[in-house]
Amino acid sequence: MIVERIWAANDYRNYHYLIACGETGEALAVDPLEWRLCLDAAKARGWRITQILNTHEHLDHTGGNEALRKATGATVAAHAGAASRIGGVDRGLGKGDVIKVGRSVELECLDTPGHTMAHVCLLAHGAAPALFCGDTLFNAGAGNCHNGGSADVLYETFVNQLARLPEATLVYPGHEYFARNLAFTLDREPDNQAAQALLPQVTGQDPASGRVTTLGEEKTINTFLRLGSASVIAALRQRFPELPERADPKTVFVKLRELRNQW
Ligand SMILES: [Zn+2]
Ligand SMILES: [Zn+2]
Repeated sequence: MIVERIWAANDYRNYHYLIACGETGEALAVDPLEWRLCLDAAKARGWRITQILNTHEHLDHTGGNEALRKATGATVAAHAGAASRIGGVDRGLGKGDVIKVGRSVELECLDTPGHTMAHVCLLAHGAAPALFCGDTLFNAGAGNCHNGGSADVLYETFVNQLARLPEATLVYPGHEYFARNLAFTLDREPDNQAAQALLPQVTGQDPASGRVTTLGEEKTINTFLRLGSASVIAALRQRFPELPERADPKTVFVKLRELRNQW
């Protein structure tokens, strides 16, 4: 499996991905809003885009489908529950479905609601596991829930699915918000040394060559994966005095998401 990350350089700060089979040159394009960039990148590599995958139904992920399909003849796959809202979907996906790219790539579909209720993440297994997580998990952050989602449900996705993946899993999110999210972590948890060390590295980084984290690393710097941290809870209780000293993780997650909306 070869992964090419494409920085869209737009206001949404999208990352697109090409996931290619090194043997056949077939490639899958993930959320290719800036579809020309994806097409150019594939051409430069000698790849052929045969499939388009939308992690969810928001237009900043689906808006390039039609043009890229016209240019390449690629088929479109998306969560079955989002297909009617996206339109032009050839394959509706559900939990456990497998997407094959060429001969050598297999990606498992995870059903990961919360940002929207019809969101998939793609998981590549193997020696270098990788997660293409759309707007569910960001570097040092979590997707918002105010455009058709639910923070309660996103919590379940984080705890029951994402946090259980191998620590070495590479994290490939749908947007670049790293420095801002890290600042949010440090505002919650000023004593977080891993976040302190990383902030200067990602502040002002060129997103085109920006840092790729692992899930293990996210667990040290991503507040939404640090729900049991005494510092996180103590700082949160200053903003939400009604929270108990031993707030349960779900409440912590939901309050963090609420706070991040206005932060
Ligand atoms: Zn979205
Ligand atoms: Zn998005």
